[in-house]
Amino acid sequence: MKESPDPLLLRDAIKSLGNALRAEQKCSYANTSQSSGLDSFIDDWLCDYPGVAQYPPLTIIVNALRGYDALTMHTRQLRGEAGLRALLALYNATTTAVDGDSLVQPPAPKSERARPPQPAPSPAAMIRPAPPAPAPTAKAAAKPKKTTTVPTSGTPVTLNSALDVVPGVGASNAKAFRRLGVRTVRDVLYHFPSRHEDRANRQSIADMRAGETYSVVGTIIDARTFTMRAGGSGLEFKIEDDSGILKLSFFRQPWLAKQLKIGATIMVSGKVEHFNGMRQMTGPDWQFYQGESAEELLHVGRLVPIYPLTEGLVEKGGREIIKKLVDGYTAQIADPLPADVRVRAGLLDLQTAIRLKHFPRASEDLLRADQRLGFDEFLAIQLGVLQRKMISQHEHSLPIPYNDSVHRAFLAKLPFVLTNAQTRSLGEIFADIGTPVPMARLLQGDVGSGKTAVAAAAALQAIANGFQAAIMAPTEILAEQHYRGLSTLLGDIDIPRAGQSVASTIDSEREQRISEIQLLLGIDPARPNGVRVALLTGSLGVKERRRVLEGVANGDIDLVVGTHALITESVQYHRLGLAVVDEQHRFGVEQRQALKDKGTSPHLLVMTATPIPRTLTMTIYGDLDTSILDELPPGRQSIATKRIRAHERERAYKHIRREVGNGRQVFVICPLVEESETLDVASAEEMHVRLQNDVFPDLRVTLIHGKMHARDKDAVMVSFRNHEYDILVATAVIEVGIDIPNATTVLIEGAERFGLAQLHQFRGRVGRGAHKSYCILVSDNDSDNTNERLTAMEETRDGFILAEKDLQLRGPGEFFGTRQSGLPDLKIAKLTDTDLLLSAQSEAKIILRADPELASIEHALLRAQVEAFWARAVEAS
Ligand code: ADP
Ligand code: MG
Repeated sequence: MKESPDPLLLRDAIKSLGNALRAEQKCSYANTSQSSGLDSFIDDWLCDYPGVAQYPPLTIIVNALRGYDALTMHTRQLRGEAGLRALLALYNATTTAVDGDSLVQPPAPKSERARPPQPAPSPAAMIRPAPPAPAPTAKAAAKPKKTTTVPTSGTPVTLNSALDVVPGVGASNAKAFRRLGVRTVRDVLYHFPSRHEDRANRQSIADMRAGETYSVVGTIIDARTFTMRAGGSGLEFKIEDDSGILKLSFFRQPWLAKQLKIGATIMVSGKVEHFNGMRQMTGPDWQFYQGESAEELLHVGRLVPIYPLTEGLVEKGGREIIKKLVDGYTAQIADPLPADVRVRAGLLDLQTAIRLKHFPRASEDLLRADQRLGFDEFLAIQLGVLQRKMISQHEHSLPIPYNDSVHRAFLAKLPFVLTNAQTRSLGEIFADIGTPVPMARLLQGDVGSGKTAVAAAAALQAIANGFQAAIMAPTEILAEQHYRGLSTLLGDIDIPRAGQSVASTIDSEREQRISEIQLLLGIDPARPNGVRVALLTGSLGVKERRRVLEGVANGDIDLVVGTHALITESVQYHRLGLAVVDEQHRFGVEQRQALKDKGTSPHLLVMTATPIPRTLTMTIYGDLDTSILDELPPGRQSIATKRIRAHERERAYKHIRREVGNGRQVFVICPLVEESETLDVASAEEMHVRLQNDVFPDLRVTLIHGKMHARDKDAVMVSFRNHEYDILVATAVIEVGIDIPNATTVLIEGAERFGLAQLHQFRGRVGRGAHKSYCILVSDNDSDNTNERLTAMEETRDGFILAEKDLQLRGPGEFFGTRQSGLPDLKIAKLTDTDLLLSAQSEAKIILRADPELASIEHALLRAQVEAFWARAVEAS
């Protein structure tokens, strides 16, 4: 490898790029200095100087200039000037090396003018990547001929080089790595071990205790082959140290006979057994030993990294290659984190973190490496969400000033008094929507905390101000339930309709249309000023759908409630002022955004009944402000929760019979079958037949599942709500939102299959009326994890505590698909690490306060990292 680019060529390249930037400076960064723009100039320049442009200090500069055409003038100026400064420094470093001539003398900072000129920094230090660490002598001992890790000729290896061209890797290993998705040198550096095995425990042979794992050094004194009874051959060695003799046996590794010769000194690591008065190890890990320190060792005698393997990449060979690359090329990694952030947050530099993540000296090293690498992930998330928040705050919404008389009319119409939490949240919402900054608020409230009423009051304010509101729900059942509830609640609240009193100003055609819609919506023609609510779902008939679309487009409809149908292309809003997304966790960030995009920056309220741990809120919803309904409406019964075993089902059925006898209703939730809705349905159908025919022949049992047509589902829900049935057998479809106050018992089969958050949701289906309610969890699974989760269900009804527990026990992916949430999988960071996340958040704020667009050259790498991180998120979703 060339140690650094040819200085003359480098100077030439710098001059060329520098001149272009200077020309841009002259034309005030209008991007007119190059015939087809700076981006295309840079493309040409990269072709002209291919080798040189790969050189890290230059790459950083060039990366910061990428996408120049699309940048604002201000950003161009920031980057252009920073680029010039950096080029200058680089050029001066180069020229001192060549001939002492310098492109331009940078003006010395004022305070330093009087000082004698400083010697230029050593060009080698500026230009050359730090020299690779010396090859470990352990390997030198094992393979004395292969001590060089850095090639002396050929194309220079950079972080982006494909593994095929990296000396010492070889085509077949490169191919094996590719199967793991590891293609370049950089990929290898970021191909972290899945765990480390502690082989650091050194001991002399005589002091080793049976059953323990040790590393021990000895000289081979005996070697013999034997035939295994099961076929194949085995090898048996004896090694000796000052204290005793240890027998080693290896099965089916005949090649070891050639490698392990009598007289060689090796270190082995494995579990010791005593057998026939002899200590022995079976299939230990080993390497040749010549007095290396723990740090120089690789396979034994230290914390040894265990990598995810693939066919063709054996453990030791893979580890050796990774070690070689980590030693040889980590120095080329540029740290995107500004030094002041690193210092404030008490973090390792990136190179050290990467080295230690692979080859820690002690377990504390691993912690510190994880901390640094995890911080980077959290920081990328925080920068992304905070930027998103800043961007949305720059948008301009139309303010929705508070209309007191309409709100009073609403309160008078409500069949209950709002809880303090509802009133507080509404205050926060009213304050938000009253300003031209778009509201972006998350309303979190446990099941049954009354989020719908809050959404209704907010929608009403929008409507009272001449806007439309939209409420998007994840399922048709839920949309229809909202639709019914809201039409009843809001249908006859009079809305002041400035200048468009229905009777006076509209022509007869329009009048005709309105009365059609009123008919469709069941609006009392006597109350033409009431809120006009419509439902829009996928299962509307063509004609109905067209009418609703028309009404939404021309403003005849004030409030539209629906499913995903609300964000399909054909939906055009007349004047959308407020968008509400219910049960947010069922929707991704993009869908939330899509609804928002239907208006010109409408205010946005997202609601979730899944109590979300704070760390998740900060990450997934970091761009939202939060209101919390931490109080249930009064008079709610606590829900007695009990876990039972399958053989106790009879008792549960007795209980169900008693409840039904008292006029109550019951949900039976069927277990989730592996990933397959069809199987879920089959099991639910089976359960339905069994309960109806064998267990409760005299009761009315019905069934609902996800494969049913939306209309049939609705019909079932309606008839169940009307108490035409006593027992509803259901798959997980009833998880969200449905409100049946007369239901008092929910029995959940296969409870271990569901997450805590989901179980809590199921439980929330009951206890909505005045009657004592019950949740019965059936599970025979006895794993610690299951027991812990089901006990948590019995002991707490606080959704937030359960959510924290769920996150700890199952991780965020399970908590609710991170995929759905638009969050990339975190490789290192743990979402339970609140402190690290908080620290990343506060640093992100500091960074963005100074440089909101991450436009400065110091942040160029950071920006690239953030963009790459979020690109992965989009890919994953
Ligand atoms: P969720 O927050 O789960 O969406 P809902 O909005 O469906 O809860 O409300 C659950 C039930 O509580 C509904 O029947 C609703 O009418 C009722 N409710 C809401 N707010 C109150 C309140 N302040 N007092 C009494 N009942 C209320
Ligand atoms: Mg709800």
